Amino acid sequence: MMNSITLIIPCFNEEDAIPLFYKETEKIKKDLRGYQLEYLFINDGSTDHTLQTLRDLHSSFPDKIHYVSFTKNFGKEAAIYAGLRESSGDYVAVMDVDLQDPPEFLPLMLEGIEDENYDMVGACRVNRQGEPKIRSFFANQFYKLINKLSDTQFVPGVRDFRLMTREVVNSVIQISEYNRFSKGIFSWIGYNTKYLEYTNRKRVAGETNWSFWQLVRYSIEGIINFSEKPLAIASYVGLGSFIVSIIAIIFIVIRKLLFGGSAYGWASMISVILMIGGIQLLCLGILGKYIGNIYLETKKRPLYLIKEKDNTNNYEHK
Ligand code: UDP
Ligand code: MG
Repeated sequence: MMNSITLIIPCFNEEDAIPLFYKETEKIKKDLRGYQLEYLFINDGSTDHTLQTLRDLHSSFPDKIHYVSFTKNFGKEAAIYAGLRESSGDYVAVMDVDLQDPPEFLPLMLEGIEDENYDMVGACRVNRQGEPKIRSFFANQFYKLINKLSDTQFVPGVRDFRLMTREVVNSVIQISEYNRFSKGIFSWIGYNTKYLEYTNRKRVAGETNWSFWQLVRYSIEGIINFSEKPLAIASYVGLGSFIVSIIAIIFIVIRKLLFGGSAYGWASMISVILMIGGIQLLCLGILGKYIGNIYLETKKRPLYLIKEKDNTNNYEHK
């Protein structure tokens, strides 16, 4: 059989983008050194006609187009994981369907793996043109913060778009944790990775599924999953305020002995109480976030459930 590259494409309400994606990606087929392209769409619980679009596309090209459809929306992370598990190609790529991940990069990525001996070639955005300024600002701060807090390194602007060898796929599959943060996982596994830089592109169709607050939550998830430092910070802050209050108590006792009691300091006392109370709640919150993750992890729920696959099913679990 011919060697092949599996493209994993998570789709959530993307009926308009799918045909455009397919058309664009087919154009680069000739530059892939004879590798056959195999599309593996993951329908992540879409509520539009994404599934029907995929069924139709599959019946037109049964050998080339495959799909897996979830029972509900499990999120892009789960979709990527499902794709990696279901993939059978010698190389595997993860791509967005909205063409923000330029298909022209696939031949360059292939070159990185085959000629330069990298195990994985990723893509990162060097600018965030067309994105709200405030969002870019927070994104940059996030990368600074997480690189300070975590031993795993995060390349700023890195996308999920990447091409990897079967070995890398097998390593990622072994990491079956429930709280997934792919950007961290791909960095944590090691291997030689090259990053191609590109400038931001607009979506071809549909709308982004990410709101600002979802991104904030996603960032917190990333930090919690790849760093234990916030726990240490919580205890340092606690220790710091403990020492300060000991000094304050000594000060008050000495003042009482030397000058007698005082009714002063009512306001400052309240503010100190509030401050310490606040610090305690903050530390409890940090602790709670980790415990919550442990809770979800110990339930060992599956990351996704599949309702339907294309019937050829000539790909197998590896
Ligand atoms: N996606 C998904 N499940 C979700 C949200 C998004 O599979 O719950 C897919 C979506 O269809 C697209 C990719 O993930 O192919 C990236 O989504 P989007 O373009 O909304 O994110 P952005 O490019 O703005 O980061
Ligand atoms: Mg997008």
